[in-house]
Amino acid sequence: MRSRYVAFATGEADYLFETTSKALRQMLTVQELQESCDSTQFIGLELIDHNEDSVEFKAKYLVDSLFGIIHETSKFIKEDDNWKYDTGTLHPTVDVNIKRNDICPCGSDKKFKKCHMK
Ligand SMILES: [Zn+2]
Repeated sequence: MRSRYVAFATGEADYLFETTSKALRQMLTVQELQESCDSTQFIGLELIDHNEDSVEFKAKYLVDSLFGIIHETSKFIKEDDNWKYDTGTLHPTVDVNIKRNDICPCGSDKKFKKCHMK
C-alpha cells in the first residue's frame, strides 16, 4: 500500500499497473495512470486502519491550487502470490481552494506560495 502511494507520488505508472488486479487492469491503461500521476501532486499520507486484505487511508493531494483528500478503503486480492489492488471505496471529502498566502496543507507551516505552489 505504501509502495503504491510512493509510486503515485513519484509517477511510476508502470509499477502501479503491475500491482493492480487483473480484473481492474482491463479497465485502465498505463498511460491513463501516468496522466493522473502527472497532474496530481501528493503531499501526505495517513493510514487509518488496515487488515490483511484491506487498508483505509487518507492521501492529501493538490491539483494546481485545489487541495483535496482521497479517503479510501482499498481492497487487495492475492494473485500469483502477490497482493494486488482490486477495488477502492471512496469516502466523501471536500476540496478546498488554497490561496497563495494560506498555510500550505501539507503541514509544513509555510505559506503555500513558499511550499507546494507550482
Ligand atoms: Zn507544502
